[in-house]
This record gives sequence, C-alpha cells and structure tokens, in this order.
Amino acid sequence: MATALTDKFSRIVKTMSGQARITDANVQDMMREVRMALLEADVALPVVRDFVNRVKDKAMGEEVLGSLKPGQALVGIVNRELAATMGEGVADINLAAQPPAVILMAGLQGAGKTTTTAKLAKHLIEKRKKKVLTVSGDVYRPAAIEQLKTVTKQAGAEWFPSTPDQKPLDIAAAALDYAKKHHFDVLLVDTAGRLAIDELLMNEIKGLHAALKPVETLFVVDAMQGQDAVNTAKAFREALPLTGIVLTKMDGDSRGGAALSVRQITGVPIKFAGVSEKIDGLERFDAERHAGRILGMGDIVALVEQVSAGVDVEAAKKLAGKVKSGHFDLEDFLAQLQQMKQMGGLSSLMDKLPAQLAGKATDADLTRAERDVRRKEGIIHSMTPLERRKPELIKANRKKRIAAGAGVQVQEVNRLLNEFEQMQGMMKKMKGGGLMKMMKRLGG
Ligand code: GDP
Ligand code: MG
Repeated sequence: MATALTDKFSRIVKTMSGQARITDANVQDMMREVRMALLEADVALPVVRDFVNRVKDKAMGEEVLGSLKPGQALVGIVNRELAATMGEGVADINLAAQPPAVILMAGLQGAGKTTTTAKLAKHLIEKRKKKVLTVSGDVYRPAAIEQLKTVTKQAGAEWFPSTPDQKPLDIAAAALDYAKKHHFDVLLVDTAGRLAIDELLMNEIKGLHAALKPVETLFVVDAMQGQDAVNTAKAFREALPLTGIVLTKMDGDSRGGAALSVRQITGVPIKFAGVSEKIDGLERFDAERHAGRILGMGDIVALVEQVSAGVDVEAAKKLAGKVKSGHFDLEDFLAQLQQMKQMGGLSSLMDKLPAQLAGKATDADLTRAERDVRRKEGIIHSMTPLERRKPELIKANRKKRIAAGAGVQVQEVNRLLNEFEQMQGMMKKMKGGGLMKMMKRLGG
C-alpha cells in the first residue's frame, strides 16, 4: 500500500528524526522534500500547499523549538497533520433512518462498487446485525447484475432480481417496496458506472438519489487512480450530496495520494478502505493508522493487537526484546513464521507491516507465501543451530547442504535468506518509536 509515498516519507522521517536542532533553514529543506514526495504521490497541488503550510506553522512554533527532540516533534506534527488531512476519528455507516435505510453506491466503472456493496452487506450483517437486501441498477451490463447476485450470496445477504430491460428507477422502486414489505433494515443499491464522467450517468444517479432518499450516498473510488480520483470525486460531489467515501484497492501499488486529496477536496469522510478482492476485504478507514502507514512506521498498533489477541504473548515479548537489542536471527524468523501461521495467515499480518515490506507483496504473492511457509520451515530446520544464529556463515557450500536437506533448490534457500535480511532490516527500523508503543501494549 502507498509504496512510493511511504518509501519517500520514511527517508524524510529518518532525516528529520536525526535533527538535533530545528532551524528555519532545515524546516524549509525538509518541507521541500515533503512537498515533492506528496506531489510525486499524486496528491493534488492545493492539498499539498495547505498541508505544507500547516506543518510549517506548527513546526516554527514552540511545539518543536521547545521540545527536547525537535526532529521527532516534527515527525509527530507531520504524522498528525497527515491524519487530520484524511479526516478524524473512524466513521461507520449511518443507519439512522426509517427502515429500510437506503445506501446508494456511486462511482466510475471498475471502481469497486459491486464488490464493495457485497462487502458492506457482510459488514452490516455481521457487525451491526442487520437484515440486508441488495439490488443492481446496472442495466447496461447483464454480467454486472449476475456479479452482484453472486457476491451478495457470499455475503449472506438477500439479492433482489433485476434485468437489463428495466429502467434503473423502476428497479429501485420495486426493490424499495420489497424491502419495506419484508422488513429489511438496509437496502444497498448498486449502480452503473461509466468509464468517464458523462451527463447521462450523472442524471441517472441524481434521479436515483431523488427517488430513494438514501441515508448514505457513498462514493466508491479506486485508490490507484491518483489525480484522476480527485477529478472524479469533484464531479460526483457536485452532482450528489455524498455522505462518505470508500477507497478501494488500497492493497494495490497505489501511490498513496488519493486518500489525502479526496478527503480534503470533497470534505466528505473516508469511511471504508477496500483491502482485497475478497468479500471480507473491507476495513473501517482510520486516518491515524493510515498516516502512520504512509510515514512507513507500519501499523504497529494493529500488529500488536493481533499478536496479543492471538497467540503467544510470551513469544511476542521475546521478539520485542530481540528487536530492541538489535538482534534478530533465523531462529526468530522461524518463530515469526510459525506465529504468523497461527494468527490468521500472512496476508492479514503483512497488511499491517511497514509498506516497504508489505507493499512489495501482491495478493498472488501472499497466497503463494502462505503455501510456502511450510517449505521455509523445512529449509530453516535443515540448518544447524549455529547457522540459524549466524546466518552470515551460510555461504555456497552450506547452502547446497541445506537445500539438499530440505529437498529444495539452492535458489529457494537464497530467497529465504533474502527475505530474512529484509525482515531483519525492518526490525532494525522498528527499534525506534514504534517499538516503545509495542512494548507498552504488550507489557500492559
Ligand atoms: P464496479 O464496476 O464499480 O462495480 O467494480 P467491481 O466491484 O466490479 O470491481 C472491479 C474490480 O476491482 C474487480 O475485479 C474487483 O475484484 C476489484 N476490486 C474491488 N475492490 C477491490 C479492493 O479493495 N482490492 C482489490 N485488490 N481489488 C478490488
Ligand atoms: Mg458493478
């Protein structure tokens, strides 16, 4: 997620954190870098300007100059302002309406409306205990109606049939009527998208909005769209009283700018983030966490929550100790692989790790990775205890022996060692601020 932006920010953060004294000149320097990073990440220019000015104002104030570690204080400001730009608190779906509460999905074709409709249905059923009906007004593509039917089933919600020869308004009226008669709490209305904004599309969705009087009108937008996301958001904002944004494909290799711009430009809260193609790949959008991710610190809080809720607090404590001492060897790597296996798989954990690492992994990689955990364990088991503690000893001959022992190719041993080094590098990074938080949470 947000790979490019995160990489840049983590470099900037490193520079900033090391500054013993903050002067007007180095604040200017750093802000120039922050500005460049944001622009390169496709954040809209007015948003960048506003952001940089806010940070500068605060940085030049006492908040930084008076603090013991001005560099870190500056990082703190950047972090807080990033979060503030993306919204505050965590917003859920508003259902305060005479049932059925209608939720209208808007956005371009391919944004993820249909997928998100089903994800939301599942969320509302499981987390809010609601009776949910879905309906598709996408009469232009017969496959789109079928798609909604399929994913609605997966979500465990009910699907209201529609056909391509109907008018979207008639479909909506019939679904609403059915939802009332059968006492549904929520009606989710999926709509047609276009490849670009056009008047027909806008008029159609405006008509649906007027007829349905939805309690939520959600604008679904692909986070990978960069600047285009901003233009689309503007157009939809002008046409419809949006109540929330869903940023989809946050798991992809997005440049991370969309979240910053879209919220600022529309003034509408980002309520959810789509994080995988799967039906459960929807998270409440948490601006603070997202800011942390952009800064490359990784979502340590979420990671720790998962660790402590999950399995082996002792093992995690030990790991935290190792991280602190700067020593992380293949034994620890193995222990971590095993823990991840117990904690709902690699993909959900990877999601929360710093983007330098997690951002490199695609969905397909992760499925493969999950299957490969066993092979990796096999490889590490084929090493001697000395090799595990001192991986730098593992040169060509040892690699051959280990590969033979585990029944794999030497390349696979190399791959594992590379991965280990990456993880080790990340652990070193975590020695700083994130670690204290992690230790505190674990200790408490
Ligand atoms: P619609 O045209 O707006 O209804 O878009 P769809 O719901 O059909 O989604 C378009 C494509 O994006 C599909 O292949 C989805 O599986 C995929 N997709 C939607 N949301 C996400 C997401 O959060 N992450 C990923 N990786 N893919 C997504
Ligand atoms: Mg669709």
